[in-house]
Amino acid sequence: PLHSHSSGRHFLQIPGPTNVPDRVLRAIDNVTIDHRGPEFGVLGKAVLAGMKKVFKTKADVVIYPASGTGAWEAALVNTLSPDDLVLMVETGHFATLWKRMASKLGLKVEFLAGDWRHGIDSAQIGARLKADKDHQIKAVCAVHNETATGVTSNIAALRKAIDSSGHPALLMVDTISSLGSMDYRHDEWGVDVTVAGSQKGLMLPPGLAFNAISAKALAASETAALQRSYWDWKEMLAINPSGYFPYTPATNLLYGLHEALEMLFAEGLDKVFVRHYRFGEATRRAVRAWGLEILCLNPDEYSSALTAVVVPDGHSADAFRKTVLHHFNMSLGQGLSKLSDKVFRIGHLGDLNELTLCGTLAGVEMGLEISGIPHKKGGVQAAMDYLSESSMAALTRA
Ligand code: PLP
Repeated sequence: PLHSHSSGRHFLQIPGPTNVPDRVLRAIDNVTIDHRGPEFGVLGKAVLAGMKKVFKTKADVVIYPASGTGAWEAALVNTLSPDDLVLMVETGHFATLWKRMASKLGLKVEFLAGDWRHGIDSAQIGARLKADKDHQIKAVCAVHNETATGVTSNIAALRKAIDSSGHPALLMVDTISSLGSMDYRHDEWGVDVTVAGSQKGLMLPPGLAFNAISAKALAASETAALQRSYWDWKEMLAINPSGYFPYTPATNLLYGLHEALEMLFAEGLDKVFVRHYRFGEATRRAVRAWGLEILCLNPDEYSSALTAVVVPDGHSADAFRKTVLHHFNMSLGQGLSKLSDKVFRIGHLGDLNELTLCGTLAGVEMGLEISGIPHKKGGVQAAMDYLSESSMAALTRA
């Protein structure tokens, strides 16, 4: 069987895919309609308009039936030409994968080394661009929230650094694990291509990928010479204004997207971001109370979407995760590539509330005990103390 029965809900506390709300599951569970018929256009227009609100943009947005990796590729192949130089920063596993993709596509990549515990140093980017007098660098690519590390990069600061260098490079940002969980402003931050996916803050299953596209990126696509067909923005943007797609879209996932957008707007994006911030802070207080180490070293760069926790030397993060799954039916995120077996990641994004988080942290605390990982008690208590004193109800009354 795909899954054996356990009573109660499985706790899917990996940093994406996240728990899909019942409302969204029910919306997906509707009859598939004619994607060229009259009803579909209404749906198509509504989800495209809704996604613009989430990206905080008035510019174009496209939706692909794809995983986030597809949206990475779309961003690169629509805007760049073979042998173009791209500046990227090694913030972690996902930045490294994007860099590998860029190389495979025939781009030259300058990859600034990082320790996987810090975000992007915008001063370093500014200095590198200033030194690039003849504008060899065509794009700067940044991962807003490194899902492998729980470290964010300050995109507004990065924009400022690019502006003050006077360099015309495009700015491309991966928001796959931040959009819908952390504040993000495509237009205000002058981002040229924003990359996103459905399975994290948007509370959907995997399978939809997004690009938000600035006028400057669209202009670049007119002359960009990398090969593209499926990912070509041109055909999408020609038909999207009527709510339709150039090929068969993922109809039922778009039903789900429509419902998820309604949920996000009903709560209010600002409240969604505060909720995620509180869950991140509560989790960090729990980790500190346990006496364990948070992977992210700079408090200004803490992620509201997930926390990566370092397991003490001589202990296995993977054995710990296995124990938690076996005893408490909860999935935690594994350490990726060079962090393999060294960290576990607590996902606190998407459709969750205070009690989901307390249950999650209780599962971690009990798992530490069973696994014999040295720690102090009181992590869940520290989180509860913070959550009760900063409760959303209290914040709303204030
Ligand atoms: N970028 C980031 C920041 C991610 O977290 C992920 C997936 O977790 C990806 C890119 C790749 O997306 P996908 O696995 O949907 O292709």
